[in-house]
Amino acid sequence: MFDLIVIGGGAAGFFAALAAKKMNPKARVALLEKSAALLSKVRISGGGRCNVTHACFDPILLAKHYPRGERELLGPFNRFQPRDTIEWFESRGVSLKSEVDGRMFPTTDRSETIIDCLLSEADKLGVEILLKQKIETIKPGFTLITKDGTSFQARKLILATGSSPDGQLWAEELGHTIQPGVPSLFTFNVPDSPIAELSGISFKEATVRIKGTTFTQTGPLLITHFGFSGPAILKLSAWAARELNEKGYNFEILIDWLPKLSSKETLENLRLLKEEAPQKTLLSENPFQLPKNFWKHFCPPKRLNDFSSKEFLELTEKLHSNIYQVSGKTTHKEEFVTCGGIALKEVNFKTMESKFCPGLFFCGEVLDIDGITGGFNFQNAWTTGFIAGTSCLNSPF
Ligand SMILES: Cc1cc2nc3c(=O)[nH]c(=O)nc-3n(C[C@H](O)[C@H](O)[C@H](O)COP(=O)(O)OP(=O)(O)OC[C@H]3O[C@@H](n4cnc5c(N)ncnc54)[C@H](O)[C@@H]3O)c2cc1C
Repeated sequence: MFDLIVIGGGAAGFFAALAAKKMNPKARVALLEKSAALLSKVRISGGGRCNVTHACFDPILLAKHYPRGERELLGPFNRFQPRDTIEWFESRGVSLKSEVDGRMFPTTDRSETIIDCLLSEADKLGVEILLKQKIETIKPGFTLITKDGTSFQARKLILATGSSPDGQLWAEELGHTIQPGVPSLFTFNVPDSPIAELSGISFKEATVRIKGTTFTQTGPLLITHFGFSGPAILKLSAWAARELNEKGYNFEILIDWLPKLSSKETLENLRLLKEEAPQKTLLSENPFQLPKNFWKHFCPPKRLNDFSSKEFLELTEKLHSNIYQVSGKTTHKEEFVTCGGIALKEVNFKTMESKFCPGLFFCGEVLDIDGITGGFNFQNAWTTGFIAGTSCLNSPF
């Protein structure tokens, strides 16, 4: 009989098992993983660098990065937030560094560093790790039965099975509601896009809006050979994940290439330039300092004097509300998640315990929580894993 079994050897499961064993050194804690490899997503995350967390230290601001989970994570973030994650890894010899956009990586730029740290901590604390244990049945109490018929008994159980349907199915059998899973963090395909030839051009800031909705995001944008990518698009895909799924990934976007200017200011700039330098071409003047090839694509090659007021109006409209038809999505290889999972109102976020099944706890992506790109998804795994691990063996059941 184990005091605790954690199912799932990902970021959340590891953090939960380590926290539980650290707090209760005498407890028998096991971590069961169905595959032959541990921490697989950590290994491939952030392009092999592992974007561990985000340099955002205000719990209220931090919670705002979660399209699903903002309200529920506020309390947990007051107990374990990125500052604690940094401290946790630093105190075990792993330094993290921030990039200009706030993403935090190990200074080695290798996800292996994070994996080695978690494995060595598990070894030091004496967490029993069992691989190739695909749990197929869970009976209340708890009895766990694997694919090959082996059974395990545990007083407490933590489900950390990520977006795999297994964990969600058991939670459903134990009385929980499951929000259906749909992809989040993807890029937009614009087939036959007239600007595909500009692939590779990036913008520090553009505003992208989904037509007919209130979803809008401002941030870096990248033109790719298949459409649009970059943080503005990825964040938009996260916030509008469900709605875009319902639309079958067919929708229109409006791009404002000059989000710092109003249309009125853009028009005024064009008029003033025409007055000041009528013989020059608008193309060579490039008054908004847009990438050269992009501007060439947008701007007719003629002298300023030859532009009519109507043409200036049309150009302004194109610069501020440029319409594209999106048809389809592409998986973003550096980071992707599934939105959906166990309904949050059925979980006590002070302990991560099920409100329906005493002794059962949840953490990580098995819950209906997902963050925007930038390290927020791992932070959810660390925070909810830490809370589940520190509370499970102390709860009365
Ligand atoms: C390519 C990629 C890159 C990413 N990069 C980043 C990043 O840089 N930063 C970031 O914040 N987020 C990133 N993410 C998201 C992040 O990896 C996840 O949010 C996080 O790993 C979730 O952790 P988890 O432990 O909840 O689930 P998982 O990591 O999915 O772990 C669940 C584990 O449970 C096991 N399991 C499932 N069913 C059973 C069963 N029946 N029996 C036993 N074991 C079972 C699975 O095999 C798996 O090992 C990335 C995701 C992907 C796919």
